[in-house]
Amino acid sequence: MTTEFSHFSWSTLAIRAGQQRTEEGEHSDPLFATSSFVFKSAASAAARFAEEEVGNVYSRFTNPTVRAFEQRLAALEGADYCVATASGMAAILTLSLALLKNGDHIIASAGLFGSTVSLFTKVLSPFGVEVTFVPLSDLDAWRNALKTSTRLLFLETPSNPLSEVADLEALAAITKNRDCLLVVDNCYCTPALQQPLALGADIVVHSATKYLDGQGRCIGGALITRDKTLYDKFFNVLRTAGPTMSPFNAWVFHKGMETLALRMRAHSENAIKLAQWLQTHSAIQEVYYPGLDSSPGHLLARKQQTGFGAIVSFTVAGGRQSAWQVIDSTQLISITANLGDVKTTITHPASTTHSRITPEQRALAGIGENLLRVAVGLEDIDDIINDLGQGLDQLVVSERA
Ligand SMILES: *Cc1c(COP(=O)(O)O)cnc(C)c1O
Repeated sequence: MTTEFSHFSWSTLAIRAGQQRTEEGEHSDPLFATSSFVFKSAASAAARFAEEEVGNVYSRFTNPTVRAFEQRLAALEGADYCVATASGMAAILTLSLALLKNGDHIIASAGLFGSTVSLFTKVLSPFGVEVTFVPLSDLDAWRNALKTSTRLLFLETPSNPLSEVADLEALAAITKNRDCLLVVDNCYCTPALQQPLALGADIVVHSATKYLDGQGRCIGGALITRDKTLYDKFFNVLRTAGPTMSPFNAWVFHKGMETLALRMRAHSENAIKLAQWLQTHSAIQEVYYPGLDSSPGHLLARKQQTGFGAIVSFTVAGGRQSAWQVIDSTQLISITANLGDVKTTITHPASTTHSRITPEQRALAGIGENLLRVAVGLEDIDDIINDLGQGLDQLVVSERA
């Protein structure tokens, strides 16, 4: 963390960390929309290329707006180092290229984001990287899957869409004294609600596309660590392979983080109200939200998180047809697989986010045909409830008929 800010508290860092004012004295942050940078002289150019002189060369490597984003996000995750990437998937690809080689093994949680599963199984497998999926909250399964070639434990907590919770300190203990790193995709909670590095994780992955932006505008990602050696490896891949974040997107995310704490608190407040209401509806079989007392991960989530986030999933009576009927009855809620927006969204995971994984992988992740996922936004909660209520009431009526 930039030392000038390290004594400030989290909410101050979200607003102040990472800004370096130019001579113009701008109050908000400038946007450096430039691909390259000029040098004072030929000798200075040579020194920059030789890395003898610190400074920008080319925006594939570094850019001041991107650096501002990186410093702010690193500060919020309680770290010193961050590499921004073009997308969340580019972050996971950068991590994989930097840390894995032929013959290496990953243990990953079964409910991962669908593209992450495809990246590990389809894109990396021709390079000789092997992956084993285990149930997120089953510590014995993680232990039993360990091999001498295991280099990464990779997970999301809480999981999407079923909100299982991983015990991060216990998983960190499993990697101890092994050549193996604990990687947490912290996209759902964001550092406003959970800081995995403080619980023993080695690397945090972000899709900035989600709550760091918060208003569904840009695609981006990041890798955060306290370990300079890991950072150097990530940066080397980034500058050479080029999965770089655009300065414009970095500017949007950087500004987005200024309201992150407020938004995550408001998302969580709306989500618990929706989850509690869903539990009372007769068309609902099960509600998955870590904020509910009845959730298996509730106590662990309380310990690791300062809020429960925006993702509420539930199963309806019936199958795919009933689930789709609820979606198609909405008038306010957006039918989109994206999340992390002030606008509430609804999706049917089995036919969208998790459609590209095999039926076996879906079954292992517990994603049935009657499952729906809502990413609760910041509209008035009564409007969100009424919008879902229409479709759910119809299900009750058609069941009785
Ligand atoms: C969206 C998402 C990703 C991928 O991020 P992109 O920015 O879409 O590439 C990775 N992990 C999780 C948990 C996500 O929700």
